Amino acid sequence: MDLAFSAQDLAFQQEVRSWIEANLTPEMREVQERSPTGHLSKELQIEWQQRLAKKGWSVPNWPKELGGPDWSPSEKYIFDLEMSRAGAPRMLPFGVTMVAPVIMKFGTEEQQQKYLPDIRDSKVWWCQGYSEPGSGSDLASLNTQAKRDGDHYIVNGTKTWTTLGQHADWIFCLVRTSKEDKPQKGISFLLIDMKSEGITVDPIVTIDRPAKGHQEINTVFFENVKVPVENLVGEEGKGWTCAKYLLEFERGNAYAPGLQASLNRIRAYAAENVWDGQRLLDDAAFRRRLDETEIAVRAMEFTELRILGALGAGQNVGPESSMLKCRGTELQQQVTELALESVGQQGLPFLHPPPVPGFNEEPVFDWESHKAPPRYFNMRKSSIYAGSNEVQRNIMAKLVLGL
Ligand SMILES: Cc1cc2nc3c(=O)[nH]c(=O)nc-3n(C[C@H](O)[C@H](O)[C@H](O)COP(=O)(O)OP(=O)(O)OC[C@H]3O[C@@H](n4cnc5c(N)ncnc54)[C@H](O)[C@@H]3O)c2cc1C
Repeated sequence: MDLAFSAQDLAFQQEVRSWIEANLTPEMREVQERSPTGHLSKELQIEWQQRLAKKGWSVPNWPKELGGPDWSPSEKYIFDLEMSRAGAPRMLPFGVTMVAPVIMKFGTEEQQQKYLPDIRDSKVWWCQGYSEPGSGSDLASLNTQAKRDGDHYIVNGTKTWTTLGQHADWIFCLVRTSKEDKPQKGISFLLIDMKSEGITVDPIVTIDRPAKGHQEINTVFFENVKVPVENLVGEEGKGWTCAKYLLEFERGNAYAPGLQASLNRIRAYAAENVWDGQRLLDDAAFRRRLDETEIAVRAMEFTELRILGALGAGQNVGPESSMLKCRGTELQQQVTELALESVGQQGLPFLHPPPVPGFNEEPVFDWESHKAPPRYFNMRKSSIYAGSNEVQRNIMAKLVLGL
């Protein structure tokens, strides 16, 4: 197993660095650096994604003929690594890595031509309408109805947890088109224009984002929403196959580069800040936890590189993706705990209105103290979404241990 980057990889790494340097504007850097959850405003996010698209780097996993850059697994890893190191924003996954692969595999030629270029060029903002109140891990129990009425479906129901749905132009939804047979068999995959009459988006207020209009998640209500039959992807009643296919892509980014970048920031902060006459970095208990986490992140990095090596050799990733999701998200949470610990009581002013994109007041202490608490609270989500970690463990128990 060779974990070293080739000369070609190193040249590519340099190219990515230079591109980020030239394209990540000071405004984007500042907002990204200060934002409580690391999200840019809608306008800046779109601008960033369109810059990536112009360079041909917005769709790393797409086939070359549809605009993908045709990178090797190690080039993809280097791209993630450099983005994380620079603190650059990520492409939002809902269009590029979620709905697009489904449209490529199950969509008609017309659907592919209509939707894929706008996804690649970031002209349309998508959101994901899978979960419902009462249907999360047990997704097949979902209850949003789509009744056929001539050349339309009439959709009624509620989707929830819809990330950034307040910005979305389109939503891809799992809907129930039949109640007969097994629950999985009556599900269909529908693309719905968010401007359709009968759709209401309500913010869900979370502890890290109490400011209205800046929510991360939403509930989306559908009341007699008319959706053209041509927006059905794949066959009616075969949506479960699309849903499972999409979930293969929902997980998949490398964790280690982002984790290492965050640890570097925590280490630098702990080296600069003096508490009761002592640098935090010289506190043995803190230093031990920091080092232990760093060792775990290095182990994660080598596991990711090993899996990349296997992918490069043409092998498929199986239960390893569940393992990476569990370990990666546990470490994400651990790193935000360390960041919170490093700012100590200076994080407390967070309890007063937290800044949101566009906020222009100076923090009470410093920017690290200001964003550590909301990022800590926000990251509790990571072991729940994209298939909870308990569900991932069930998958590993079945596929690895044969239980
Ligand atoms: C911040 C955030 C953003 C999200 N964004 C979106 C989005 O954009 N679109 C979307 O459709 N969904 C989204 N989700 C929803 C997410 O996919 C669900 O929260 C997740 O699938 C869990 O479902 P649930 O919340 O209904 O919890 P439940 O399924 O009710 O689970 C409750 C608890 O029981 C455990 N559990 C459930 N089943 C089992 C089992 N079989 N064995 C062992 N333990 C089990 C779970 O692990 C969990 O701890 C988001 C969630 C969060 C937190």
